[in-house]
Amino acid sequence: MREVLGPRAFATYRGMIASGPTEPGPRPGPLTIRPHKGLRMAYLITDSLLEDHFKCNTKSYLRIQGKPGEAGNYSTLCSRLDAHHLASASQWLATRSTACGVSRFGGAPLQDIMTTDEIVLDVVGEAEGLKTHFHALQRTPGCSELGLYCYRPIRFCRQQQPSSTNYLLLAFDASILGHRQGVPPEEGILYCGPTFRQVRARLRTHLDSLAAILLAIRAQSANAREPPLVLNRHCEICEFKQFCRTKAVEEDNLSLLNGITPKEIIRHNSKGIFSVKQLSYTFRPRRPAKRQKQQFHHNFSLQALALREKKVHVNGDPTLTLPQTQVYLDIEGLPDRGSYYLIGALVVTGQFHQHHCFWADDGSGQVTIFSQLATLLIENVDWRVFHYGNYKRSDE
Ligand code: SF4
Repeated sequence: MREVLGPRAFATYRGMIASGPTEPGPRPGPLTIRPHKGLRMAYLITDSLLEDHFKCNTKSYLRIQGKPGEAGNYSTLCSRLDAHHLASASQWLATRSTACGVSRFGGAPLQDIMTTDEIVLDVVGEAEGLKTHFHALQRTPGCSELGLYCYRPIRFCRQQQPSSTNYLLLAFDASILGHRQGVPPEEGILYCGPTFRQVRARLRTHLDSLAAILLAIRAQSANAREPPLVLNRHCEICEFKQFCRTKAVEEDNLSLLNGITPKEIIRHNSKGIFSVKQLSYTFRPRRPAKRQKQQFHHNFSLQALALREKKVHVNGDPTLTLPQTQVYLDIEGLPDRGSYYLIGALVVTGQFHQHHCFWADDGSGQVTIFSQLATLLIENVDWRVFHYGNYKRSDE
């Protein structure tokens, strides 16, 4: 038996992973992930549930509980774009592979596949409580329970740059395929972006993480224990937004504080602080040590105090000197493509305001818009740029 699962996952899952095959009888593949002895098989883990879990623990929990959500305009648009991309990518792959044979199965189960074609599109695979919709499978030479060939998974992603979610979903497909053909694929293929850029993925490296995630979801579905609610950046487009927001306000959840990180919340929880109100009582103004330069970092307990008292508090004694000209800058881009398409600048000199926007229609226009910005800036003598602290993503 070829060992493909990483050593850490193997240790974690030694109760879940089948040991070596003996003839006769079904031969479990090295990627065979079986339910943990202590966990009841309570819910079929699908690729879409896995995707929900990557975004937020609470989301997968609510999905398992059958809670109905309300899809917003943006998520409906994204689903439509994803479906359109999947259809055109499947068509592209079918056209490209006509010489070696293409079969479309319209969502048929994997075990019903009887074809010698190299590319198989639109199949559903299920094994050991896991279920996925394979975007495509590619037949490659090799020895498996199917014969002198085996399949490897193919996925299409709309973004030019694949994310960790795409790799983990590919590993998920591979683990189900491993059950079906007895031999796990070591490699999968991602076709990314509108140009269908090919990315080969070594699956071994993603299996440790996948095993831990599956264990967490199984535990979540088996004992139905609700994970702690932590509002996050996905909430804005999540179908459970209203439900979670109401609950967070009811429990005065710490994640209501804009910018607070899960790590920081855990740190406060470990001290017995669970609500914004509790945190607000912990603020203590501190004088900087003598000769120490005054540095006032963002303080969440002061933010909580400001919310409780409904007052604006100024931490320390900041002095703000403004130059003659202030330039307020906003740059928009596509992080998955590593490109920028718009620079907006508001130039304020005394009472005069001027708005400028520089657009790039494609990648080649980027240099031009940054040159235009530089020209605008050097036209002024005494100026300073004000900008957002973090890069504003426009892919979500
Ligand atoms: S609204 Fe936010 S916290 Fe609630 S499930 Fe969605 S992402 Fe998670």
